[in-house]
Order: sequence, then structure tokens, then C-alpha cells
Amino acid sequence: MTQHYIVIGNPIAHSKSPEIHAQFATQSGSDISYRRQYCPDDASSFTAVIEAFFNGGGVGANVTVPFKQIAYDCCAARGGLSEHAKVAGAVNTLSLNKTLIDSGTPIAEAIYGDNTDGQGLVNHITSLDWPLAGARVALIGAGGAARGVILPLLRADISSLTIANRTLSKATDLVKELGTASDTIDQHHIDTCATSELSGQFDIIINATSIGLSGDTLPLADDLQAQYAYDMMYGRTLPFLQHFSKRGAQTSDGYGMLIGQAALSFERWTGHNIDVVKATDALSRR
Ligand code: NDP
Repeated sequence: MTQHYIVIGNPIAHSKSPEIHAQFATQSGSDISYRRQYCPDDASSFTAVIEAFFNGGGVGANVTVPFKQIAYDCCAARGGLSEHAKVAGAVNTLSLNKTLIDSGTPIAEAIYGDNTDGQGLVNHITSLDWPLAGARVALIGAGGAARGVILPLLRADISSLTIANRTLSKATDLVKELGTASDTIDQHHIDTCATSELSGQFDIIINATSIGLSGDTLPLADDLQAQYAYDMMYGRTLPFLQHFSKRGAQTSDGYGMLIGQAALSFERWTGHNIDVVKATDALSRR
């Protein structure tokens, strides 16, 4: 029987998720339908859309801009949150909490939230053979995407994490907020600084800002060096990657992260493991 999935966002027409999940379905031999779902930009519309979807037999949903925090609040009050969602403060993957369903909880009260964005990034970096264990990592940005990657990075045994942001107070507030969200985070010291003050040698530097959308460039210090540079953005020329490439770094954009987070959602919903490299190859040949 066909299993139904959606990705909910506003705007949503640009989303590549249906093509990506169709590729996963082909690879795993699954019978799925995965479609884009537009939703008006308010919490009550979002709640109405996901309730109708799951009550109608839907199995899983992805959540994209601007609903990741709304989805977090919704699941916190219903079927619960994974540790990754709790630390990220955001949800990108919805499913039903089977334990609650089995104990008679109504479907709408059993909607469960997870976040696969950060682990998708870590899985992509690992697939590139960039060494994470023992790495000194600089993360630029203190928004939702940066927040979501902190726990997976610390779990990958990096040796130090420095978070740099244009607005320094947002980086320091983020670290304070994360303090009690997970034991893993409790056990690590995280440095913070303004982006223009970020300097010295790092193994991996990650751009988790949305600067690429603005046409501005980051104020990077002359003595800032990294062996590997990753930009979470994709699909356009990225000055951040050009800057580090000229200085001899290996670079990657965030397309593999996009596929990686989608693969983790698919695996959680269907139980099928996805060969992400094979899926990425097939998608890029289109
Ligand atoms: P947010 O709006 O939550 O955060 C934006 C961040 O960018 C803040 O740290 C902000 O700094 C910084 N920023 C924005 N404009 C500038 C600028 N002109 N100069 C310096 N810093 C700037 O966005 P998200 O965290 O949700 O997303 C960040 C990026 O990650 C986006 O480009 C998004 O597309 C990408 N992303 C990619 C994914 C993938 O699968 N590849 C998944 C998720 C996100 P300040 O606090 O000072 O405002």
C-alpha cells in the first residue's frame, strides 16, 4: 500500500524534497507518495494542516522554513520531541509516536518531532573523509541551522568548538540556553566571538549564516585559516568557499547536507537505510 508523506513550508514550490525522496524510494523499493504542501504562515494553519494530514493516514512529514519552531512547540505539547529536536529548538521531521497511539492516544495528540539537519551535516562531512574526531571547529552563525548542528558535532568527538556571529550576544545567549539541554553539551566548553574577531587556525570552518542570500560577504580576518571549509548553502556561487579554496582548503557546499538530512528522515519513517552517495550521484545526473 502506498505510504503518504509531505513537506510543509511557505514558500514551498522550490523544495527539492519530493525528487530526493522519490530517489530514496527507488533505491529502497518503497511505494511512497511525497508531495509539497503549502501552508499559510501562522501556527493555527500549521496545526490544522498536520492534523488533517496524519488523521487522513499520512505517515511522515518534513517541515521547512518558516515552520520549524512552530513544529517544535506543536510536538512539545503533543507526541514529544527527540533529544536532537530539543537541543536544536526546532523540528524538521514529523511522525506519529507509536507508543502513544498503541495506548489509545488520539492521532492528533501523538505527533512527534525530530531534527535530522545537524546529523545530516555531520554524515556528509564524514562521507567526504574530513576528520571530525579531534578537530578544532569554527561555526559561523547563531541561528537555527547553527544551533541544530552543535549536538551532532560534539557527539562526533571534535576537540573544540568556537561559535562566531555578527551579533555576538546571540552566540553567547545560544550557548547559555544550550547549557542544560543535554548532558553532552554540559560536558563541553564552547567559545564565542564576533565573526570579525574569529582568527587563528581551525581544522574545519562551517558557514551557517544566511549571508549568501544577501549578497554581502563575511568579514573574515586575514590570519583565519582552515583545512576544510563547509557552507550550508548550495546551488549558487559561494564567496565563503572561494575565500578558503584560494587559501588551499578543501571545500563543500551544503547539497550533501540536504540529502543527508532527508535520508535520515526517510530511514526513521520507513526503516530502510539509504546509500546517500549513490542517491546523490543519481540526483546530480538529472
Ligand atoms: P537564521 O535566520 O536562523 O540565522 C541566520 C544567521 O545568519 C544568523 O547567525 C545571522 O546573524 C547570520 N547573518 C544573516 N545575514 C548576515 C550578514 N549579512 N552578515 C553576517 N551574518 C549574517 O537562518 P538559519 O540558521 O535557518 O539558516 C542559515 C543558513 O543555513 C541558510 O542559508 C540556510 O539555507 C542554510 N541551511 C541549509 C540546510 C541544508 O540542508 N543544506 C539546512 C538548514 C539551513 P545575526 O544573528 O547577527 O543576525
